Amino acid sequence: MILHQAAFEGGKPWLKGNLHTHTTRSDGASTPETVIRQYAQMGFDFLALTDHRLYNYRNYAPDTGMMILPGTELDADLPGPGCHVIHLLSLGPEEEKGNGFRQDQRFETVKNLKEAAEAAPMRDMIAGAGNLPVFCHPEWSGNTAQEVMALADIPVMEIWNTGCVLENGLDDHAAYWDEVLASGRKVYGAATDDGHRLCQNGLGYVMVRAERNPSSVLQALRSGAFYSSCGPLIHDFYLEDDKAVVLCSPAEVIRFRHFRVPYTDQRGPGITGHQTVPVRNTNYIRAEVIDAQGKTAWTNPIFLDEEYWAAVRRP
Ligand SMILES: [Zn+2]
Ligand SMILES: [Zn+2]
Repeated sequence: MILHQAAFEGGKPWLKGNLHTHTTRSDGASTPETVIRQYAQMGFDFLALTDHRLYNYRNYAPDTGMMILPGTELDADLPGPGCHVIHLLSLGPEEEKGNGFRQDQRFETVKNLKEAAEAAPMRDMIAGAGNLPVFCHPEWSGNTAQEVMALADIPVMEIWNTGCVLENGLDDHAAYWDEVLASGRKVYGAATDDGHRLCQNGLGYVMVRAERNPSSVLQALRSGAFYSSCGPLIHDFYLEDDKAVVLCSPAEVIRFRHFRVPYTDQRGPGITGHQTVPVRNTNYIRAEVIDAQGKTAWTNPIFLDEEYWAAVRRP
């Protein structure tokens, strides 16, 4: 029995994209055209210009061939002190395929929430417009993992946010992911840039298995047919009977994550694969690859349900 993670099955092309970007349409330093040209030069296939509370479909540099994924970033205020907020990306399909938001549609910050669960109407407005909600940078937002979990039905959360790392040293978003996954929630993890200046762009991205149109990319994000990276390539991630196997570009460290199992590291240099036997009855397993420059790539999880554990007979 071989069970591939969704990114590593089917024949769709790989597309490299960034889901979270700011420009002079909100608090970014560079124009949309400059940002699109920069990402195109770096070999990206698609880009979402998610300026704060301002929806965008427009391609400001169509000659680059960049595919623009429609979107914006919405936010709500939770009680202080300090920074305590919820930020959600809203990523949508083409307008003619049921996207309920308009070009340049403006939104307001949702004020005075007492707890994270009260952000449900913001999530529902996003989903109601045919958009995919993405939970942003929980560490920067002062969220607990419980606050992430308070908003059910959000299929994707950020596990790496370049802006948070470079500006604030906040690189622990993936730790929230493990807590959410261990609770039984099926959430996929995305690396994004959230760049506000050109020097923050192109460093954290998703590799998506999709056709070159927004609807296909969104379907891949919803179904986990992608992985995240700051550099390394992941070639395959699968279960073969009772073993989990990951294959990748040459790495210094490869490790698996399933809740409360810290001892799975394989160390290089130049290793290109690793395998482990998941702890019995864990509900998920995922892999991380770290290259010689210290850059990480993250697979999405394979979820290990009761059917899997019933099929794998071992003591
Ligand atoms: Zn944000
Ligand atoms: Zn942002």
